[in-house]
Amino acid sequence: MNKRAFLEGFFTASAVAFGGHFMWRRLQTTDSLIVAENPGPVLPQTGEAPPASFQFTPIEIEQTQPAAGIPSPVPTLAANDLQATPVGSSATTPEGIRINSLSDRQVDAYLRKIRNFDAIFASDIYLDPKYEAVLLKTTRHLANVESYMGHGNFNLMSFDEMLQAGRNFSRIGEFEKDELDFLEEIFFANPHRYGFFGKKVSLDITDAIPRKDVAKIPNSGHFLLKGESLNLYNKLVADIGDQLILTSGVRSNVKQMHLFLAKTIEANGNLSRASRSLAPPGHSFHGVGDFDIGKIGFGARNFTSDFSSTEEYRKIARLGYVDIRYPTDNLFGVRFEPWHIKLG
Ligand SMILES: [Zn+2]
Repeated sequence: MNKRAFLEGFFTASAVAFGGHFMWRRLQTTDSLIVAENPGPVLPQTGEAPPASFQFTPIEIEQTQPAAGIPSPVPTLAANDLQATPVGSSATTPEGIRINSLSDRQVDAYLRKIRNFDAIFASDIYLDPKYEAVLLKTTRHLANVESYMGHGNFNLMSFDEMLQAGRNFSRIGEFEKDELDFLEEIFFANPHRYGFFGKKVSLDITDAIPRKDVAKIPNSGHFLLKGESLNLYNKLVADIGDQLILTSGVRSNVKQMHLFLAKTIEANGNLSRASRSLAPPGHSFHGVGDFDIGKIGFGARNFTSDFSSTEEYRKIARLGYVDIRYPTDNLFGVRFEPWHIKLG
């Protein structure tokens, strides 16, 4: 692997400010309790059973078969090998792995992981099993909030509004201390520890998306930030045609939290695997303007690399004014996402 070529794929992120208030905050500790001290048994490379302490529905073997074949054994990347590097003067939080300090073997191991994002690797990091019950309880609770308040509203819901919904509606029920502590742990844990190297774009769990700043996109159930995001989307539809649809727009920390926890359950507690295909809460650029597009009738394949073979994607690639956030072999620890449009 040519490191220079690899680095050329590296994009810096623009600094974005959030509105919102600070009803609920905590001191950030350097050591989060989230990650198991001992990641547990060394797992086979792919498609095998999760650690015994997790009782989630087993993932079908076929689902975990990587498209590029079963990965061969990889050297373990020590946490120190994956130091983040500051990018640009405006970056408030570092992003990207420091690829120059890695050996070729480690670079290959890193690439194998993001290319086979849904596989299980021996060096993957798991949620500490003691959080299993609260993970399930909190995820169900969030699902309740979403179904009661509506999918559209939930996309924009702030943490404070989530608390309020719990207090106001007995069918949702108040969030309990263990759930709130857990959500904070997830939000404030440093995801470098499990292999995600994207920038943190929302620093406070209570950051909110002002309603006046968003526009509802007809027939999508999603919203976009007015201004650059909305303009770019409208321009894309005008240039590509009405087969183009918005599959996900602006997302609040609460929405991202629900998606990430659900993904963690699906991954049997494997935080590394979950974060290879979904940014942890606070790290999603959906909170600050990025959005996902798809093709009508393409269904779930809109969220696979198959999207890059559609005529719509080819047209987009030819437009010249569109970037995707997570290109192949990016430095953020994330799979290739041809559907995820980068703003700024
Ligand atoms: Zn996306």
